[in-house]
Amino acid sequence: MDAQVSFLDQLFNQRILHDSGVDGLYARSAVFEEVISQFEEFALAFGRHEISEAMVFPPGMPMADFETSGYMKSFPQLAGTVHAFCGSDHDHAGLLQCLAAGDDWTDQQKATEVALTPAACYPLYPILAKRGPMPETGAYVALQSYCFRHEPSKDPARMQMFRQREYVRVGTAEQTMAFRETWKQRGQEMMRILELPHEVDAANDPFFGRAGRMMGASQREQELKFELLVPVNSTASPTACMSFNYHMDNFGKAWNIRLADGSPAHTACVGFGLERLALALFRHHGFEVDAWPSGVRKALWG
Ligand code: ATP
Ligand code: ZN
Repeated sequence: MDAQVSFLDQLFNQRILHDSGVDGLYARSAVFEEVISQFEEFALAFGRHEISEAMVFPPGMPMADFETSGYMKSFPQLAGTVHAFCGSDHDHAGLLQCLAAGDDWTDQQKATEVALTPAACYPLYPILAKRGPMPETGAYVALQSYCFRHEPSKDPARMQMFRQREYVRVGTAEQTMAFRETWKQRGQEMMRILELPHEVDAANDPFFGRAGRMMGASQREQELKFELLVPVNSTASPTACMSFNYHMDNFGKAWNIRLADGSPAHTACVGFGLERLALALFRHHGFEVDAWPSGVRKALWG
């Protein structure tokens, strides 16, 4: 790769992504979307026979459930909430004056009952909790959502709005830990088939502040999170393209998801960063999809 031209600029030049003027917010080309949808089919084939149901979420979730998730405690720097104008005719006139004068008009916006979804599995848990105690088999859900994280960057793999495809397992500690182990292996098998260099490593989430550093260290120590890393923007620091998370019974407790015996459910999820995986494929196999290795094409297009 030409070291002088960044990967992001190459993607713009090749019209695979289109610049919006805001870092991390890009329009996707048809070919980029096709790679994503073929990857989703490929990923679904690995778990289709095991899932109990599938869901797709909109990019926003109920504010009340967002609050229950504890996201503002751990990651306030990444969160986004939806605000809207809720004023009168008089307020509207003031708003237009602010806009015309180039003044800040946004302080008149009021919080709505919608937060931008920060992680694809969050909207699932309250839905499951409302159903009452879990059956013995638990739940095994395939889902997809757009997510928002306020982390503007010139690294095309670090977007502000991106999609995660996930498998989520809800049940006993044994069921959820076995699920995560299976997917750690499957994730690596998927990368071998797609001929992408990869490694799996223990990881931690970017918890905020000084207390957050301790939470991150404890998460890593307890091996609650693993990432599958692929070089995307740089070979020196590879990018997390999948993550394998075990939440113990934290979400079961937070959202009151109960097992048949009344105890809080354990949860685990495996997340595929769809844009990151597409970018990894373009980075390693080139911008011409027709020229990708035949094994990769066969896996994605059949
Ligand atoms: P990172 O450590 O790079 O911030 P993460 O491992 O904390 O990412 P998770 O919270 O585990 O991310 O999210 C699941 C998946 O979503 C990640 O493995 C990654 O593929 C994808 N993802 C996370 N953040 C972004 C982002 N800003 N842009 C694109 N994809 C992302
Ligand atoms: Zn998840």
